Amino acid sequence: MKECLLNFNFEELQNLIVELGEKKYRAGQIYKSLHLGLDFSEMTDISKVFREKLSLDYDAQSVKILKYLQSVDGTIKFLFALRDGNVIESVLMKYNHGYSLCVSTQVGCRMKCAFCASGLHGLVRNLEPGEILGEVICANKFLLGGLGEKRKVINIVLMGSGEPLDNYYNTIKFIKLVSSKEGIYVSQRNISLSTSGIVPKMYDLANEDLSINLTVSLHSPFDEERQKIMPVAKTYKIDKILDACSNYFDKTGRRYIFEYVLIRGENDTERHAEGLIRILKGRPCHINLIRLNEVKENDLKSGTDKDAYRFMGVLEKAGLSATVRRKMGEDIDGACGQLRQRYLEENDKNE
Ligand code: SAH
Repeated sequence: MKECLLNFNFEELQNLIVELGEKKYRAGQIYKSLHLGLDFSEMTDISKVFREKLSLDYDAQSVKILKYLQSVDGTIKFLFALRDGNVIESVLMKYNHGYSLCVSTQVGCRMKCAFCASGLHGLVRNLEPGEILGEVICANKFLLGGLGEKRKVINIVLMGSGEPLDNYYNTIKFIKLVSSKEGIYVSQRNISLSTSGIVPKMYDLANEDLSINLTVSLHSPFDEERQKIMPVAKTYKIDKILDACSNYFDKTGRRYIFEYVLIRGENDTERHAEGLIRILKGRPCHINLIRLNEVKENDLKSGTDKDAYRFMGVLEKAGLSATVRRKMGEDIDGACGQLRQRYLEENDKNE
């Protein structure tokens, strides 16, 4: 595979352009074109000779839309092909103010959480920074062309397949690329990173001088039960995760968020709500309650909407800030890793 120019930050691109014998200011045009999703052949403001020179050793773009599904609620799920034939998915959600994109950071995942389809086949490989960026570029291009929308992606959640902090360097570089003023320029305040709780990397993240939001997948207030839902919980205990969250708040001044997937009978009882109150009361945090999207590969069940709101009510009564996340894209395999899983199954059948 050739190196993709989307992996280069602005300064690196400037250096490369000069090394290859072009004027430095050309870097601005090329960087912009790359982030708009153009191929070399479409960069007509650059000489043909120089474009050909670039394309000898580099690719301009990193991902292509293989397929997309549109939900009745407007949510769009993309299946993207990478240049090496691997596939990943992203989910585009429309909110009142604009679009939010949920991006994948790895092909597959090694976390193997019980409810999630992303880790079914383990980790295949890390995504490059320019591949994560490619998901955003493709979605923007699709909105402008496919839907004729003027609004673009203004909010990004690193909450698709993969564990972002298990692909630390590339994830950080992606965040810097997508928020760079010469490129797409998404505000870091509108970027959220979700982790299963890789404690040492949470400390590193707090030192990066980024103004992104930190989200932690909690799913149980009890270590022993959490380990059954998330194998990674055997390595990182809840009290250590909470210390890392406090450190994040001290360093950045930013409130943190907990994700809590409600699984019927497993983590949605009164005892669990009380456990959450005990460990989270008084902390500068918010709790996102997510109704489980059932996947056919396991027999975990979702409770009713009423159960979810009852659970939320218990938390709120104790003074915690909690919301039940709006359900989106349930009719299009909306949950993490489901669409890629269907695609892999179908391809197996065809082989
Ligand atoms: N590895 C990171 C990011 C990916 S998973 C992490 O663990 O946070 C991010 C979130 O996807 C999970 O917290 C959960 O909220 C959601 N998710 C995954 N599978 C789901 C399913 N089947 N139903 C509902 N939510 C799911």
